[in-house]
Amino acid sequence: MDIKKIKRILKDTAFPHVSGTPEELKVAQYLAEECRALGVEPKIEGFQVAGGEIQLAMLTADGKEIPCNGYMASGNADITAPFIHLREKDKASFTQVKDKIVILDGWLEAFDYKDIAENGALGFIITNGNVNFKDSSPDKRYLAERIVESADGKKLPGMQIHVKDAAKLVKSGAKELHMVLKQKEFPVTMRNVTAEIPGKRDEWIVCTAHFDSTYLSKGTWDNMTGCIALLGIMEELKKTAPNNYGVRFVFCGGEEEDLYGSKNYLEMHKDEIDKMVLDINVDMIGETMGSFEACCTAEEKLSHYLSYLAMEIGWGMKAYDEVYSSDSTPFADKGIPAVTFARMCSGQYASFHNCYDTEAILSPQQIQKDVEFIAWFADRMANAVKCPVDRKIPKKLKKKIDVYLERVRKEDADEDE
Ligand SMILES: [Zn+2]
Repeated sequence: MDIKKIKRILKDTAFPHVSGTPEELKVAQYLAEECRALGVEPKIEGFQVAGGEIQLAMLTADGKEIPCNGYMASGNADITAPFIHLREKDKASFTQVKDKIVILDGWLEAFDYKDIAENGALGFIITNGNVNFKDSSPDKRYLAERIVESADGKKLPGMQIHVKDAAKLVKSGAKELHMVLKQKEFPVTMRNVTAEIPGKRDEWIVCTAHFDSTYLSKGTWDNMTGCIALLGIMEELKKTAPNNYGVRFVFCGGEEEDLYGSKNYLEMHKDEIDKMVLDINVDMIGETMGSFEACCTAEEKLSHYLSYLAMEIGWGMKAYDEVYSSDSTPFADKGIPAVTFARMCSGQYASFHNCYDTEAILSPQQIQKDVEFIAWFADRMANAVKCPVDRKIPKKLKKKIDVYLERVRKEDADEDE
């Protein structure tokens, strides 16, 4: 793909576009237009998830206000209660949460939610950000439906605060929090943008990349770079069409919230799952610093094959077997071999899900090279006489998928070893 086009797409989409918002629709339409320009007719496929509109989110500690955002779809509340910063996640710690508001570091995990709900917590607060960064804005998220379901449908009001404020609060010795959350709850529409280059066989390689961003991020590295890769594959495979395999493109919405896009795509296309032979997923490439990886959730042969291919053409890459935190996992969960390509980067240089994910950390030349490799691999697979990857997910990876998708506790999976 030419550098000018890469720069243009990065620039045109550099604004927060959280799933279920008008901004997300704008980016979906933009990507659809890019497909059309390549002569591939796009579809915008909507799906609904639990959402809402926050009208008031207010958090005070001993009368002092703390900047916060409410969790959409987490209900309404007006609670005054003591709080606990839950550092450990052992059974003893969970007995401390009764009638309290619970502060959890970093990320809301389904089993933590279930455990605090079952132990009588009144609400939860998740921390975001980094104390060493200038920014101190609270993030904003949806409470995933499956997390509420994991606690037998019990809804706890939730908020996000910045870790700087959380640390101040813990240090302050404040006794009580006052949490006020008012929202209108309703299903919101999120979308996938899909397109297809038909092949000679009635089977497909599916190429995925999410296009939604988080609330504080413009979603440039994460993951307009992946969307550019999909358009790059489309550009190349359009030239050689009809390829042996059909190639489907899914620009996924809702990835940042709960991999909603890929999960819903697979649900909406469940009758076609048997004909999906491989998922090629791209999540964050092209930084100035950082190393290229291929994370395979497939039979072991795929990572070996990828290593050999890379060696053959002198492309630096680490290929390995793991479950990746991206849209490849719902595909692998359905038995479809999957690989995520990503350029990993140390936090010293680049970070994401915040306002520091911008064009400044990217190299359009590196994006171009990364896309070229991924498109070359996609072309090889689409034109294979028979796609060489078997539809087999090894037991060990299946277990990791169960843990990643929070169906099984990690301790329980480890015990079964
Ligand atoms: Zn991402």
